[in-house]
Parts: sequence; C-alpha cells; structure tokens
Amino acid sequence: MSGVPMITTYTMWSQFRNCRKAAELRYLQHLVPLERDRNLHFGSIIHECLQSWYQRRDLAEVLALIDRLCPNRLQDENQLRDWHLATAMMKAYAARYATENFEVMALEKNFEGPIVNPMTSAASRSFTLAGKVDGIVRIDGEHFILEHKTAAQVDGDYLEKLWTDFQITIYAYYVEQTMGIPITGILYNVLVKAKLQQGKGETEEQFQERRAELLSKSKTGKTTAKRKQPESDQEFQARLTEKYTDPGMFHREMLYLSRDRFDVLRSELWELTQAFLDARRRGVFYQNTAFCFNYQRPCPYFAICRSNGNPNVIENFYQRVAPNEELRVMPSDAPETAF
Ligand code: SF4
Repeated sequence: MSGVPMITTYTMWSQFRNCRKAAELRYLQHLVPLERDRNLHFGSIIHECLQSWYQRRDLAEVLALIDRLCPNRLQDENQLRDWHLATAMMKAYAARYATENFEVMALEKNFEGPIVNPMTSAASRSFTLAGKVDGIVRIDGEHFILEHKTAAQVDGDYLEKLWTDFQITIYAYYVEQTMGIPITGILYNVLVKAKLQQGKGETEEQFQERRAELLSKSKTGKTTAKRKQPESDQEFQARLTEKYTDPGMFHREMLYLSRDRFDVLRSELWELTQAFLDARRRGVFYQNTAFCFNYQRPCPYFAICRSNGNPNVIENFYQRVAPNEELRVMPSDAPETAF
C-alpha cells in the first residue's frame, strides 16, 4: 500500500456498512453496471439546473441547460421524459422561489479533511474524507447546508427519515472544520417528481380490440369511439405545468444539528475505517444478502453475486469507472453526471 491516503466519500462508507461486498466491487474493483439508474440521472440533471439557477437566476439559461443535458430527446424516450419533467419542474420552481429568504454563500462546494480517531485525536494515515455540498446559505446570520433532493413524494415518513441522513450531518461537521464556518443546520430543498406519463396513444390493433368490446356492450350496436392519438409534447407539457401549480410539489424543511450527533457519527466513521482496513488486509468482504433488494430494486451488483462473480457477467454487464464520481466538477453539457 502506498503512503498516500485513499480519498473516500461518505457514499463509500455507507455502502461498506450496508454490504461489504458492494463496497469492494465499487471501490476496490471500480465496477459499475453498464446500465445506470435513470432516477439518479434525473436527480443529477436537477442538481445542475439548481446550481445554474442560483448562480445567475436566469430561467432561460436553465432551460437551455436542460436542452443540452437531453440532446437525444427526439429519439430517446427516457431523455424525452427527463426533459419534459425537468422543464416543467424548473419553470415552476423559478416562479415559486422568485425570491428567497436566504443568501447563497457557496454552491457545489468540495471539501476534504482527515478522519480522526476519537480516542487519540490522531488523523488516519490510510483515509481522508471528501465530499461536496450543494450549497451553503445564510439565514438571519446563521449558516445552513443547502441540500437538494428530488423525491417521488413527500409525506410524514419521508420527513421523518431525514433524521437518518447521516451523510449530510457528517458533511456539515467537515464544512465547519475545513472552512471554519459554524453550521446551524440543514435546509432541505425537496422537489417532487410528477408521476404523469405522456399518453402514447393506441395501435390500430389496440383500438380494434377496445372498439369490439364497446360494441359488445352497446345496446344500439354502434359506437362513436375513435382511435386514441399520442399526446403531443405541447399537451403533455401543459399537463405537467398544471400539475406543478400544486404547492405540494415543492417543500422546504429545516433540520437543526445536534453537536452530540457529530460525535456519534465521527466515532462510527472511525470504526468503519478500522473494519475496512481489516477486511482489506484479510481480503474478505462478505455479502449482506439482506440488502440485495433494498430501495425496492436489485442492488447494482446483483448479477455478479448471483453468478458467484462469473467473469463473463462482469465482462458483459459492467465497466470500470474510477470511484468518487460525485466529487468531480462536470461540464454542464456532459450526458451523464453522477452515479
Ligand atoms: S447483490 Fe447483495 S450481496 Fe451482492 S453486493 Fe449487492 S447487496 Fe451485497
């Protein structure tokens, strides 16, 4: 092992805590699936849009950015869906938050600091912790970390779970330590993703089937049914715009940080570093199969684990990508921004 400490992120530690095998595959073998999660892609588009919005507050610029981030929308229906949703969401966001009660102090701020042994206060020689916060804002003279989130829905459960968002709490601690800014809490900026889908229309076959069914129920033996046409882009965008007039599509939640929480998380982080060193030394990263279907979808490494690490599966369905992608500053026209 070289003497240079490995730069780690909280994403790595949380993955290691959840399943050691997943952390080994991502952070030591550098594997990621060729097919990446669409939800994460959409989240990264909105993050870039919000960064642009808070830099210049120019909606036209944000909309042009969405166009650039979805360059193949005419051929690719996933990109078209992202484009529609991001466009309607950001137009409504700009109207809703035309003025803010906070002052933006920093955007997309990277930090890196030591991981410290809480017993001795000595810094780890093996690892540092790096991360990026969406922003730092000032409200009535106090500083808050700004954290953007896109969510399928915001309810009591969702808000309750924010307390378990250890990543942002530990990031707040590092922002304090490395930048010397005392952080009072977190301002969660939640944007809800509309579930609407663009109407696809009927094929001739589907129409004939529906028509036959209507005729069989009709007393007169007639029907005025017409074949359903696909919903145009304008019609769909209008429907989304209408949806985003609902005030519940945006939510702000403020969470105050407790200093005790910092201490708990710092010791946990240290424990994780020790467990990782031990696993790496012995070359043993065990599987936590209770986690394979967390988040209601298979883990990205499910195909590898199910095939017992078959090299053909790795060759055909995975690629090698350097870790810590979330730390990189991406050009705004990059097609894929974060994993
Ligand atoms: S598939 Fe399951 S066991 Fe394998 S890395 Fe993912 S969570 Fe771990």
